[in-house]
Amino acid sequence: MIEHNKITLGKQEQQAVSKVLDSGYIAQGKEVEKFENEFSDFLGLPEQHAVALSSGTSALFMSLWSLKAKHKSIAMPVYVCSSLRNAVAMVQANELLLDNAIDSPNISLNQLKKSNADFAIIPHMFGLPNQIQNINNIDIIEDCAQSLGASIGNEKTGLIGKAGIFSFYATKLMTSGGQGGMFVSKDKNLVDKVRDYREFDYRRDKKERFNFQMTDIQASIGRVQLRKLPSFLERRKEIFALYKESGLDLISSENNSSVYYRAVIRINDPARVKDKLLKQSIKTIIPIEDWELLGDVDNFKNAYNLTQTTLSLPIYPLLTNKEVKSIINQVGEAIQ
Ligand SMILES: *Cc1c(COP(=O)(O)O)cnc(C)c1O
Repeated sequence: MIEHNKITLGKQEQQAVSKVLDSGYIAQGKEVEKFENEFSDFLGLPEQHAVALSSGTSALFMSLWSLKAKHKSIAMPVYVCSSLRNAVAMVQANELLLDNAIDSPNISLNQLKKSNADFAIIPHMFGLPNQIQNINNIDIIEDCAQSLGASIGNEKTGLIGKAGIFSFYATKLMTSGGQGGMFVSKDKNLVDKVRDYREFDYRRDKKERFNFQMTDIQASIGRVQLRKLPSFLERRKEIFALYKESGLDLISSENNSSVYYRAVIRINDPARVKDKLLKQSIKTIIPIEDWELLGDVDNFKNAYNLTQTTLSLPIYPLLTNKEVKSIINQVGEAIQ
């Protein structure tokens, strides 16, 4: 069976975890601090501009909370996982759902500009950067759960908006042991607020704070994975190029500043092709299905259209060229 996704973990992650276990200090500590600073450095931020958290969702929540988004209007795409809606609900803000740009997995920036939202959560879906650099009237939280390492102009995604969030869930571009997240911002004042809300224990003022901490066990895995990330991204790029060379109709961007989180093809009747491929021991997914859309299908035509015409093929560092060739052949047969 060729899995749709597979995690890349090895001896180095095991050794890193062992070291933390042997130290007897397993909660948030030195490893988390090192992970944060190495992550800042990877993005091109000064030290202490990243805050490690328990998940991408908690990083979204902490962004909205620190920006005082309660009762404000938050623009967000309809074509995305429910994490965004959950974070917006937790902070008691109002969601404003927007459709995709035509034939794109990303939110329509034209609609966003015309909206009267106070804030916007903008994911760079499938690793394709949404060109948000000219949005000036709305504070943007960049959701980089799928775009770690991608760039816009000469900056990494996560640094263009007011804040950026990342996820280290098991199926993302890298993991911190199954779950994990990161908040980043150029605005040190905002970073300090998020950090303050995270340090809940032993505080004398009566402010409410939250336990969304990452553990040193998780951070030790995250640090190893971050060192491996450039090689992960390179291998994904190679696989994407093999798919592209074979003539598959892949969703991609014109410039090469993407990362290849998903290899998504445009086809008719993806559910049928998915079943056929499964019979050939190849697992694929429809990246977002129509019932997963956060709004009513009738009101979001572009997003709905994508749910009916897309299939996500396996792409991950451990996938071999032989497997890629087999997938290409089988897809060719299945779409006949
Ligand atoms: C995975 C994901 C999230 C949520 O991250 P968790 O760590 O699972 O909470 C948010 N946004 C996007 C676009 C994602 O892909």
